[in-house]
Amino acid sequence: MTKPAPWLHDPKYTIEILKKYDFRFQKKFGQNFLIDEHVINKIIDAADVGKDDFVLEIGPGIGTLTQHLAYNAREVAAVEIDKNLLPVLEDTLGGYDNVTVINEDILKLDIIKLVNEKNGGRPVKVVANLPYYITTPIIMGLFEKHVPIESMTVMVQKEVADRMASGPGTKNYGALSLAVQYYSEPYLAANVPPNCFMPRPNVGSAVIRLALKKDKIPVKDEALMFRLIRAAFEQRRKTYINGLKNSSELPISKEQWEEIFKKMDLSPSIRGEALKLDEFAKLSDIVSEYIN
Ligand code: SAM
Repeated sequence: MTKPAPWLHDPKYTIEILKKYDFRFQKKFGQNFLIDEHVINKIIDAADVGKDDFVLEIGPGIGTLTQHLAYNAREVAAVEIDKNLLPVLEDTLGGYDNVTVINEDILKLDIIKLVNEKNGGRPVKVVANLPYYITTPIIMGLFEKHVPIESMTVMVQKEVADRMASGPGTKNYGALSLAVQYYSEPYLAANVPPNCFMPRPNVGSAVIRLALKKDKIPVKDEALMFRLIRAAFEQRRKTYINGLKNSSELPISKEQWEEIFKKMDLSPSIRGEALKLDEFAKLSDIVSEYIN
């Protein structure tokens, strides 16, 4: 192993590296690099990264977080879309022999294959300062493809973190909260202001840890439950039953919706945003009997 490069969390060294490679930030890739050691330590602590762990990092940038992951974990695979960053990463991660950089679009990569090859199919820890323009597709993609994951500890826009962690009856509660909470237990680890990044984003950020559930709420048809969840938040001003009656998405008559709400013991005046995850699951199981 060669001597590791200086820690990039020191803004002086980040600036030096950016100059050395004449690096131009690409807005389209959501490039906001971390320059705060305290925040990086919070991410490593929240992710609970140790020498037994295989870590998948999404978007290493110039390698600021990656250096700490390589230092703490057994092995790291870092997936970066921007090929201009490859020579930079070779330089900044040169001293670590446990990191592989993969030049790919994370949304197109076969992550299950990667986990099988690199970690024998055992669950990995995902750790990332995510590109904000694709936060939801990245997270939902990992859940829905059933990639073997123990936890995801990710920096996201503060507003998105709030939506992921909110419960029924609150203003941030929505389809994203339910999807995330169906698959995982969210924990808000830290709020992070714009001055911890270079360049500064124009929104606040937060570190959220999503620990994957071993026992998900049982439901016969996941896809149907998520259709019912989406319907609950599409027409927030209507009662849930009216929204469902007016929707032509499901082959269920108005009378049948009334019957179903009676079976569920739900008031016709209830709004979708008042239902909890287990109620959506139960509703979905009843609705599936009407469809099949
Ligand atoms: N981890 C670095 C840090 O904390 O300083 C950089 C984080 S920056 C917010 C997001 C990174 O994701 C950038 O390096 C960007 O080029 C990369 N990225 C953007 N879209 C991507 C994609 N579809 N697949 C893989 N990486 C992507």
